[in-house]
Amino acid sequence: MGKPTGFLEYKRETAKVLPPKVRIANFNEFRTPISKEKQKKQGARCMACGVPFCQSGMMLNGMASGCPLHNLVPETNDLVYTGNWKQAYLRLSKTHSFPEFTSRVCPALCEAACTCNLDSEPVSTKENERAIIETAWQEGWVKPQIPRVRTGKTIAVIGSGPSGLAAAQQLNRRGHSVTVYERSDRPGGLLRYGIPNMKLEKSVVDRRIHLMEEEGVQFVLNTNVGKDITADELLKKYDRVVLACGASNPRDIKVPGREAKGIYFAVDFLGKVTKTLLDSDFEKVPYELAKDKHVLVIGGGDTGNDCVGTSVRLGAKSVTQLEMMPKPPVERAANNPWPQWPRVLKTDYGQEEAIAVFGHDPRVYQTTVTEFIADKKGNVCKAKIVKLKSQKDEKTGRMMMVPVEGTEEVIPADVVLIAAGFLGSQKYVTDAFKVSINGRTNVETKPEAYETSVPRVFTAGDMHRGQSLVVWAIREGREAARAVDESLMGYTNL
Ligand SMILES: Cc1cc2nc3c(=O)[nH]c(=O)nc-3n(C[C@H](O)[C@H](O)[C@H](O)COP(=O)(O)OP(=O)(O)OC[C@H]3O[C@@H](n4cnc5c(N)ncnc54)[C@H](O)[C@@H]3O)c2cc1C
Ligand code: SF4
Repeated sequence: MGKPTGFLEYKRETAKVLPPKVRIANFNEFRTPISKEKQKKQGARCMACGVPFCQSGMMLNGMASGCPLHNLVPETNDLVYTGNWKQAYLRLSKTHSFPEFTSRVCPALCEAACTCNLDSEPVSTKENERAIIETAWQEGWVKPQIPRVRTGKTIAVIGSGPSGLAAAQQLNRRGHSVTVYERSDRPGGLLRYGIPNMKLEKSVVDRRIHLMEEEGVQFVLNTNVGKDITADELLKKYDRVVLACGASNPRDIKVPGREAKGIYFAVDFLGKVTKTLLDSDFEKVPYELAKDKHVLVIGGGDTGNDCVGTSVRLGAKSVTQLEMMPKPPVERAANNPWPQWPRVLKTDYGQEEAIAVFGHDPRVYQTTVTEFIADKKGNVCKAKIVKLKSQKDEKTGRMMMVPVEGTEEVIPADVVLIAAGFLGSQKYVTDAFKVSINGRTNVETKPEAYETSVPRVFTAGDMHRGQSLVVWAIREGREAARAVDESLMGYTNL
């Protein structure tokens, strides 16, 4: 696999990235992949180690290590090295439904678990994946896979995010007739209206949706299941239903002044920006949402970072990003060894851009909001914040973040974006289907299973496992498809 001495001969080389001050001029992707010849050398760096953790996808210390899809990473890296691009595409397609999405947005759990990452730099598996799939699209190898025989079985998939799309793709290719219901005006779930265009251009989503339509999947948009159409109607019309509605119930910040105008949930804000861009064919940019305003982002995670990058592009006057937890270490702590996912400081694209524009890191650690202050018109204009410290809770014995007296401060905040995570599924859908939910409001199934408490109703993705990643959503969609197929046919070859 790869070249046995490749990792000693070649340095890791990744895509060329436009400088922050240049790329913020628009909402386009800003990474230019390296040439195919150079990419082959990156494939050569894979050293066929005895135990390829990169493809294991196992849980270590509560976090996934290696690819959850079990992509055959050393094999595809080898095929990149030898320039067998078509074989590489076919091998990747054995485990993966949409490499063009993950090769843009995945945090690359494979690379974190790569043996080269133990004391050097990992193999650039994510960019190898991108080179494989983009070559395949360019060469016309990604063709509609239309089933030769239809089984006569019908399936409704609710939600067109990556889990719903993966389930629909697999079930349709198996010969079942699949209809995807989506409440938004465009399909894609958070691939469309969550992840910003500069990370995943929406033409990449459209390209895949068109292919799925050619394969025979039907998309019914602007239809909110549980409101526009009832669960009973669907259960009468279809043999099986897959609930893939995401974990779209955002965690709120319930402090005094929350009712002020100008306070948005991150996904609503990000979705609005993308919708305006798409509706106007990128002619209209909704500058009015943040231009010349002090933007306060609450939440230090990836969604918060997307809000930072988007606010910078909209011409914000300042951007502050609050994080409750302490600043992570620069290097792995002793209790977080390889191949665990590294809990280390990461400066993402949005933060890099804020640093370039404002001259400092937008992140403020161990801090939270205690009050929003509105002006006479009811618009938020300031926020009261306070420092936090870690302290043991007397009753539960658990460590809690508690306010530090005397550290209160008032900062300007004309726009507040709440990126504090998600609480799970939405009640109206789970009530409509009467499926059991767990304490986190995720739809309940037996471990490693996908059928809900209601016969013929299955679930997948964030709605099942809670807020997660695109790669997990695709895995869940594929596995739910297996379960549905088995329940329909008595066996499965998916
Ligand atoms: C801002 C943001 C950025 C992110 N960035 C990344 C990233 O860079 N990398 C990464 O790996 N992960 C990222 N994630 C996480 C990732 O997007 C999700 O884990 C993934 O999209 C979950 O897929 P899903 O199919 O389960 O649900 P979703 O993508 O949430 O899709 C669910 C779909 O169901 C539809 N729906 C819900 N209820 C109904 C109904 N009743 N009727 C009809 N349709 C319905 C919704 O409109 C939606 O389209 C990000 C998440 C957010 C919020
Ligand atoms: S899907 Fe993600 S974890 Fe899996 S191989 Fe691709 S980049 Fe790595």
